[in-house]
Amino acid sequence: MPGRVIKVKRAEKLGLLERLYVPMIAKGLLVTARHFFRNLRGFITGKNRTDFVVQFPEERIDYPDAFRGMPVLVQLENGEPRCVACGLCEFACPTDCISIVAGELPDSGIERYPEAFDIDMSRCMFCGLCEEACPEEAIVMSREVEISTFTRDAMLYRKADLLVPENLLKRRLDFLRGEYEREDAPSQSG
Ligand code: SF4
Ligand code: SF4
Repeated sequence: MPGRVIKVKRAEKLGLLERLYVPMIAKGLLVTARHFFRNLRGFITGKNRTDFVVQFPEERIDYPDAFRGMPVLVQLENGEPRCVACGLCEFACPTDCISIVAGELPDSGIERYPEAFDIDMSRCMFCGLCEEACPEEAIVMSREVEISTFTRDAMLYRKADLLVPENLLKRRLDFLRGEYEREDAPSQSG
Protein backbone atom coordinates (compact mmCIF):
# COMPACT_ATOMS: atom_id res chain seq x y z
CA MET A 1 0.00 0.00 0.00
CA PRO A 2 1.54 3.31 -1.05
CA GLY A 3 2.42 5.75 1.71
CA ARG A 4 1.11 9.27 2.07
CA VAL A 5 2.51 11.63 -0.56
CA ILE A 6 4.34 14.64 0.89
CA LYS A 7 4.89 17.60 -1.38
CA VAL A 8 8.33 19.09 -0.92
CA LYS A 9 8.64 22.80 -1.53
CA ARG A 10 11.18 23.34 -4.27
CA ALA A 11 13.51 26.32 -4.40
CA GLU A 12 11.57 29.44 -5.23
CA LYS A 13 12.17 31.20 -8.50
CA LEU A 14 14.37 34.26 -8.12
CA GLY A 15 12.78 37.65 -8.75
CA LEU A 16 14.36 40.44 -10.72
CA LEU A 17 16.13 41.98 -7.68
CA GLU A 18 17.58 38.64 -6.66
CA ARG A 19 18.80 37.97 -10.11
CA LEU A 20 20.45 41.41 -10.27
CA TYR A 21 22.36 40.26 -7.14
CA VAL A 22 23.76 43.66 -6.06
CA PRO A 23 20.50 44.94 -4.49
CA MET A 24 20.31 41.83 -2.32
CA ILE A 25 23.91 42.31 -1.17
CA ALA A 26 23.01 45.91 -0.26
CA LYS A 27 19.98 44.62 1.64
CA GLY A 28 22.19 42.19 3.59
CA LEU A 29 24.66 44.95 4.41
CA LEU A 30 21.82 47.14 5.67
CA VAL A 31 20.73 44.40 8.08
CA THR A 32 24.33 44.06 9.35
CA ALA A 33 24.67 47.84 9.71
CA ARG A 34 21.37 48.05 11.61
CA HIS A 35 22.61 45.48 14.16
CA PHE A 36 25.99 47.18 14.40
CA PHE A 37 24.59 50.63 15.17
CA ARG A 38 22.01 49.27 17.57
CA ASN A 39 24.76 47.43 19.49
CA LEU A 40 26.97 50.50 19.39
CA ARG A 41 24.24 52.70 20.83
CA GLY A 42 23.59 50.14 23.59
CA PHE A 43 27.32 49.88 24.33
CA ILE A 44 27.76 53.67 24.60
CA THR A 45 24.59 54.47 26.51
CA GLY A 46 24.40 51.24 28.50
CA LYS A 47 20.65 51.22 27.79
CA ASN A 48 18.61 48.67 25.89
CA ARG A 49 21.67 46.48 25.56
CA THR A 50 19.87 43.30 24.71
CA ASP A 51 22.52 41.64 22.59
CA PHE A 52 24.57 38.98 24.30
CA VAL A 53 28.14 40.28 24.39
CA VAL A 54 30.73 39.25 26.97
CA GLN A 55 33.82 41.44 27.26
CA PHE A 56 36.16 38.49 27.71
CA PRO A 57 38.49 38.16 29.61
CA GLU A 58 37.42 41.06 31.86
CA GLU A 59 33.90 39.64 32.01
CA ARG A 60 33.16 35.96 32.52
CA ILE A 61 29.89 34.17 32.21
CA ASP A 62 28.61 31.92 34.93
CA TYR A 63 28.38 28.57 33.19
CA PRO A 64 25.28 26.51 33.94
CA ASP A 65 25.64 23.58 36.33
CA ALA A 66 25.29 21.14 33.44
CA PHE A 67 28.40 22.64 31.79
CA ARG A 68 31.30 20.23 31.26
CA GLY A 69 34.80 21.62 31.61
CA MET A 70 37.87 19.51 32.29
CA PRO A 71 37.46 16.51 34.59
CA VAL A 72 38.92 16.85 38.08
CA LEU A 73 39.25 14.66 41.16
CA VAL A 74 37.19 15.38 44.26
CA GLN A 75 39.44 16.06 47.24
CA LEU A 76 38.11 15.18 50.68
CA GLU A 77 38.66 17.30 53.80
CA ASN A 78 41.63 15.13 54.81
CA GLY A 79 43.33 16.10 51.55
CA GLU A 80 42.93 12.67 49.97
CA PRO A 81 41.04 11.93 46.75
CA ARG A 82 37.62 10.33 47.07
CA CYS A 83 38.71 7.91 44.35
CA VAL A 84 39.02 4.21 45.24
CA ALA A 85 40.98 3.33 42.10
CA CYS A 86 38.31 0.98 40.77
CA GLY A 87 39.32 1.81 37.21
CA LEU A 88 35.79 2.24 35.84
CA CYS A 89 36.47 5.75 34.52
CA GLU A 90 39.65 4.52 32.85
CA PHE A 91 37.63 1.76 31.19
CA ALA A 92 34.82 4.10 30.13
CA CYS A 93 37.04 6.79 28.65
CA PRO A 94 36.69 6.69 24.85
CA THR A 95 40.00 8.44 24.22
CA ASP A 96 42.02 6.34 26.62
CA CYS A 97 43.45 9.41 28.28
CA ILE A 98 43.08 8.29 31.92
CA SER A 99 45.84 6.28 33.51
CA ILE A 100 45.55 4.95 37.06
CA VAL A 101 47.99 3.04 39.24
CA ALA A 102 46.16 1.55 42.21
CA GLY A 103 47.71 1.19 45.64
CA GLU A 104 46.39 -0.84 48.58
CA LEU A 105 45.26 0.41 51.99
CA PRO A 106 44.79 -2.73 54.09
CA ASP A 107 44.03 -0.91 57.38
CA SER A 108 41.53 1.56 55.99
CA GLY A 109 37.77 1.62 55.33
CA ILE A 110 38.64 1.66 51.65
CA GLU A 111 41.01 -0.93 50.27
CA ARG A 112 42.40 0.86 47.27
CA TYR A 113 43.50 4.35 46.44
CA PRO A 114 45.07 5.89 43.35
CA GLU A 115 48.83 5.92 43.80
CA ALA A 116 48.94 7.71 40.48
CA PHE A 117 46.06 9.22 38.52
CA ASP A 118 46.92 10.95 35.26
CA ILE A 119 44.74 12.50 32.60
CA ASP A 120 46.18 13.56 29.27
CA MET A 121 44.07 16.67 28.66
CA SER A 122 45.36 16.97 25.11
CA ARG A 123 43.25 13.90 24.33
CA CYS A 124 40.32 14.51 26.66
CA MET A 125 37.20 15.66 24.86
CA PHE A 126 35.23 16.66 27.97
CA CYS A 127 32.59 14.05 27.20
CA GLY A 128 31.84 13.33 30.86
CA LEU A 129 31.74 9.54 30.49
CA CYS A 130 34.31 9.16 33.28
CA GLU A 131 32.03 11.13 35.59
CA GLU A 132 29.06 9.00 34.59
CA ALA A 133 30.96 5.75 35.15
CA CYS A 134 32.31 6.69 38.58
CA PRO A 135 30.38 5.00 41.42
CA GLU A 136 31.95 7.26 44.07
CA GLU A 137 31.42 10.83 42.79
CA ALA A 138 35.19 10.94 42.73
CA ILE A 139 35.73 12.41 39.27
CA VAL A 140 33.52 15.25 38.10
CA MET A 141 33.44 17.75 35.29
CA SER A 142 34.64 21.17 36.44
CA ARG A 143 34.03 24.60 34.87
CA GLU A 144 37.67 24.95 33.86
CA VAL A 145 38.24 25.23 30.12
CA GLU A 146 41.17 27.61 29.85
CA ILE A 147 43.92 25.02 29.87
CA SER A 148 45.88 25.75 26.71
CA THR A 149 49.65 25.40 26.93
CA PHE A 150 52.64 25.67 24.62
CA THR A 151 53.68 22.03 24.94
CA ARG A 152 51.94 18.68 24.89
CA ASP A 153 53.81 17.57 28.01
CA ALA A 154 52.18 20.36 30.01
CA MET A 155 48.78 18.88 29.13
CA LEU A 156 49.51 15.79 31.19
CA TYR A 157 47.72 16.40 34.51
CA ARG A 158 48.93 14.40 37.47
CA LYS A 159 46.91 13.52 40.55
CA ALA A 160 48.09 16.62 42.44
CA ASP A 161 47.03 18.85 39.51
CA LEU A 162 43.60 17.24 39.33
CA LEU A 163 42.60 17.45 42.98
CA VAL A 164 39.95 20.09 43.75
CA PRO A 165 38.43 20.49 47.25
CA GLU A 166 34.93 19.07 47.47
CA ASN A 167 33.40 22.37 48.63
CA LEU A 168 34.52 24.08 45.40
CA LEU A 169 32.69 21.45 43.38
CA LYS A 170 29.45 21.70 45.34
CA ARG A 171 27.33 23.04 42.49
CA ARG A 172 28.38 20.23 40.16
CA LEU A 173 27.95 17.58 42.85
CA ASP A 174 24.48 18.90 43.69
CA PHE A 175 23.62 18.88 40.00
CA LEU A 176 24.77 15.26 39.66
CA ARG A 177 22.82 14.18 42.74
CA GLY A 178 19.74 15.80 41.23
CA GLU A 179 20.34 14.02 37.94
CA TYR A 180 20.82 10.63 39.58
CA GLU A 181 18.22 11.26 42.28
CA ARG A 182 20.78 10.73 45.04
CA GLU A 183 20.45 12.38 48.42
CA ASP A 184 24.13 12.40 49.24
CA ALA A 185 27.53 11.13 48.13
CA PRO A 186 27.83 7.34 47.79
CA SER A 187 29.12 5.75 50.99
CA GLN A 188 32.68 4.48 50.93
CA SER A 189 32.31 2.27 53.95
CA GLY A 190 30.38 -0.47 52.16
S1 SF4 B 1 35.80 13.57 29.87
FE1 SF4 B 1 35.67 11.85 28.42
S2 SF4 B 1 37.59 11.92 27.28
FE2 SF4 B 1 37.90 13.18 29.12
S3 SF4 B 1 38.76 11.81 30.65
FE3 SF4 B 1 36.55 11.75 30.93
S4 SF4 B 1 35.84 10.01 29.68
FE4 SF4 B 1 37.92 10.54 28.99
S1 SF4 C 1 35.61 5.50 38.50
FE1 SF4 C 1 35.79 6.96 40.21
S2 SF4 C 1 36.47 5.71 41.94
FE2 SF4 C 1 36.81 4.51 40.08
S3 SF4 C 1 38.94 4.97 39.49
FE3 SF4 C 1 37.66 6.43 38.39
S4 SF4 C 1 37.54 8.23 39.71
FE4 SF4 C 1 38.31 6.56 40.94
